[in-house]
Amino acid sequence: KLKMTKHVLPSLKAKVETELKSMVVYQIKCSRCESSYVGQTARYLITRIKEHRNVNTPVGSHFQNCNCEILMENVMILDRTIKSEQCLMSLEALWINKVKPKLNTKDEYKSRTLTIKI
Ligand SMILES: [Zn+2]
Repeated sequence: KLKMTKHVLPSLKAKVETELKSMVVYQIKCSRCESSYVGQTARYLITRIKEHRNVNTPVGSHFQNCNCEILMENVMILDRTIKSEQCLMSLEALWINKVKPKLNTKDEYKSRTLTIKI
């Protein structure tokens, strides 16, 4: 039993640490198909992920259609900054252009491109 505890604790800790990260650029991957979404948040990551679970959002409805749940296991942190939200937006734009995630809307591409130019 002691052995198990030793294994369980670090992963739980890692999960909580990921959930409570802020000022991050993250990617959510659908485990059913190749679709993914790239976003940023200055708040706790888990707060943003909870919003994505709403089926009235593009990401939430995709996961519903694919019959998947958005779990922390599907969320990857791509980048992090402590500088400013402006910097965070620029990083997000770079990642969106690099990853070209299917679930990001055309408007998001557009507004992020504008952010880069500014
Ligand atoms: Zn999917």
